[in-house]
Amino acid sequence: MTLKLIAGYSLAAATIAVAAVFLLPRQADGIVLGAALVILPVVWLHLLLSARVIRPLKSVAEAARRFTEGDFSVRVMGVAGGEIGELASAFNSMAVHLEAKIQELEASRSQIEGILQSMTEGVFVVDPSGRLTLINPAAQQILQVGSGPNALFKEAIRYPEFHLMAEQVLKKGYPAVQDVELFTPMERNLRVYGTRCRSAGGEPSALFVIHDVTEFRRLEQVRRDFVANVSHELKTPLTVIRGAVETLLEGALNEENGGRPFVELISEESERLGRLVDDLLGLAQIESKGMLLTKQQMDVKRFLSEEIERHKGRAKAAGVSMTLEMKTPLQTLMADREQAGRAVSNLLDNAIKYNRPGGTVIVRASVRDGAYRVDVEDTGIGIPPEQIGRIFERFYRVDKARSRETGSTGLGLAIVKHVMEAHGGFVQVESRPGEGSRFTLLFPLV
Ligand code: ADP
Repeated sequence: MTLKLIAGYSLAAATIAVAAVFLLPRQADGIVLGAALVILPVVWLHLLLSARVIRPLKSVAEAARRFTEGDFSVRVMGVAGGEIGELASAFNSMAVHLEAKIQELEASRSQIEGILQSMTEGVFVVDPSGRLTLINPAAQQILQVGSGPNALFKEAIRYPEFHLMAEQVLKKGYPAVQDVELFTPMERNLRVYGTRCRSAGGEPSALFVIHDVTEFRRLEQVRRDFVANVSHELKTPLTVIRGAVETLLEGALNEENGGRPFVELISEESERLGRLVDDLLGLAQIESKGMLLTKQQMDVKRFLSEEIERHKGRAKAAGVSMTLEMKTPLQTLMADREQAGRAVSNLLDNAIKYNRPGGTVIVRASVRDGAYRVDVEDTGIGIPPEQIGRIFERFYRVDKARSRETGSTGLGLAIVKHVMEAHGGFVQVESRPGEGSRFTLLFPLV
């Protein structure tokens, strides 16, 4: 404003002086000369003011305006010397510092934003007026929230557990931890942490962090079920053994041949216990992360013949015949001999166990669709379609009553499945109740 005035005054004075020279009657050359002496310094003063003060100050003012509009790269150029030069250089160094600070703040803001976006934990913040001031994609996905920040918290997140937690955190300032179960769109177990934080405006807000612990809870349940199942499986033969021993001790031992059935029972049940422990150890070994397969090129015909040979005795006792069909020119397969043997052996075991007298078991090797296939086909009792999805679970048996007679452990197919996964392959099954089943091991061709 002052500058404008000074400039205005100097311009007005120059104008008046010029006008005086031309309007006054030319009475004397002295007057003209006097007027010229007035005009020239005033004009010179105006030009000087404009070049040294007004224009530089205008550049500073323009730079300041652009800076406030967000152009942080702006600098005052071409102003040097004097107080205004100092002002320009102070402005420039302030601009450099502010630009660096703003870039730093922006970098840390985008880093925090990036972290929030990529976190698997859900995060959201509720302010005291009940609005969501922040919500990350994980929280939106877990809680099925369509709206973003600024939505009303109670409308966006409709689970009452969160409303109570927010009240507790905001009003009392206590941190809160709660397990929340969601049932739609699918069942989920959440562990939610709520704590007080300061929002950008300085007022206290409630910060929530959500951990999805569904998988963790499921594994916990699997572990609990497994321990319960193992205990039950071990207890059953032990109870039978204890009963038989008691009967023997109570006198059956002294009767002629009276003790034999009980001793046989003890022998059967201890064999069953042994099988169970072997299968459990096998399963633990396969499941342990450290299990490394020792793969080698196996001669498939020899490998399958050996496995069939090992089951000949049991097959004969059950009245079941076994044959091998090699339907591939590819004679070798890359696999772990011991583990692959375990898988084939379990399938042969079942094919005999769940067969009928006079039935057959065909073992077939073939190559199709980039996989080496080993089929074990039987003419046995088959599996009801609704049970097929469960037979690879540990301890699952279709016919619980029959499993006592067959001495089965319910672990055989779980072992097969794990062995195949360790090889990068898988196991398939097709079955018709009353007609038979076909289990197929698919080894990848490498
Ligand atoms: P198990 O020790 O009981 O044989 P598995 O895990 O090998 O345990 O098999 C699980 C269940 O799947 C068996 O109890 C049986 O009911 C069914 N099953 C497996 N193989 C066959 C088969 N070849 N024919 C009919 N049922 C079978």
